Amino acid sequence: MKSIAILGGGVVGLALARELAAHKLRVTVFDPQAPGLEASWAAAGMLAPDSEKHPDRHFRALQVAARDGYPEYVAALEKETGRRVGLRTDGLLMMSPKGTVKDALREPELVWQPALFFPGEYSVDNRLLCAALAQSCKKHRVEFVKAAATRVERSGEVLRVSSEARVLAEADAVVNSAGAWSGRISAQDGRHHVNLDIRPVKGQICAVRADGWKLRYMVRDEHVYLVPREDGRIVVGATMEDVGFDKSVDSGVIAKLLEGAAKLVPKIRNAPIVESWAGLRPASRTGLPLIGATTIPGYYVSVGHLRNGILLAPLSAQLLGQIILGGKTPELLKPFLP
Ligand SMILES: Cc1cc2nc3c(=O)[nH]c(=O)nc-3n(C[C@H](O)[C@H](O)[C@H](O)COP(=O)(O)OP(=O)(O)OC[C@H]3O[C@@H](n4cnc5c(N)ncnc54)[C@H](O)[C@@H]3O)c2cc1C
Repeated sequence: MKSIAILGGGVVGLALARELAAHKLRVTVFDPQAPGLEASWAAAGMLAPDSEKHPDRHFRALQVAARDGYPEYVAALEKETGRRVGLRTDGLLMMSPKGTVKDALREPELVWQPALFFPGEYSVDNRLLCAALAQSCKKHRVEFVKAAATRVERSGEVLRVSSEARVLAEADAVVNSAGAWSGRISAQDGRHHVNLDIRPVKGQICAVRADGWKLRYMVRDEHVYLVPREDGRIVVGATMEDVGFDKSVDSGVIAKLLEGAAKLVPKIRNAPIVESWAGLRPASRTGLPLIGATTIPGYYVSVGHLRNGILLAPLSAQLLGQIILGGKTPELLKPFLP
């Protein structure tokens, strides 16, 4: 049997671990924390490529394929685990200010109105999704080891994974899916070195509770988005900040997000804040993900999912799984090979 070490148990690593374990590979996930506690916990869970309008057409094709496959993926995961993951398929309202340019100079008096409706945009509760993926992994006998990997070296037929202190494992293949931290893991085989250029992009975000009312659709404009959850919470996000490995939350920033949200949905002004937090999105230099084999045989990466990791994780796991299992490189992945 082939053994695989997956470095990083965020949504990307978990979805891949589940995929490979379902194909009867022996999978171990290494993570210094319990799975799913970083960006994958912090996200808003939008599965909304149409309203995002990403400028790269290959990336858009990947996003749309990922979104279209979500309902079936979730149905299978929910059936298997008996857990709900809060998939919502009601769509998204894109708002714009009603009024003239002159009015726009006196912003507070402007009224925002729906300008476009995107019926095919979805959302998922990413925390519930990660919990269900972790449960499915355990069911498929994926082993979880609490440790941070720092080094991968090829030694003969196997790849050796080490932490600062010790050798953690030897495996036939290794996948680096350590999110914003993936650049901290170096890999070599005597001829090649692979060091990933991935940086964190901080997102501050919060949630309010809708008491006695419901928001049916996701709502957004250029600056802020609102994502309703099944339990009555509304997630309001999010900033994009290039400030390194910093997860502090600034009350002024949260106030500004809520002010922006209240312009779109005035009831937000009276909704109690239930939580505020920050997460670190993994960003490559181009802003696009890197998914596939590297120059070191048996060493793969699935990194740089930036603002779309929740959306892309199930599909990127299926596509990278095909490569690891010895299949042809899927067309959709070709633009994103490392
Ligand atoms: C505020 C915010 C809003 C977002 N909204 C959305 C959204 O609406 N839709 C969407 O699709 N995406 C969204 N995202 C992006 C999404 O969260 C990420 O793209 C996705 O979670 C990345 O998953 P990951 O598994 O690569 O990284 P992570 O979830 O960060 O997981 C990386 C894991 O690696 C572990 N790790 C770290 N160092 C090591 C090491 N040395 N060895 C082993 N493991 C290690 C960490 O502990 C962590 O568990 C958002 C992100 C943020 C922050």
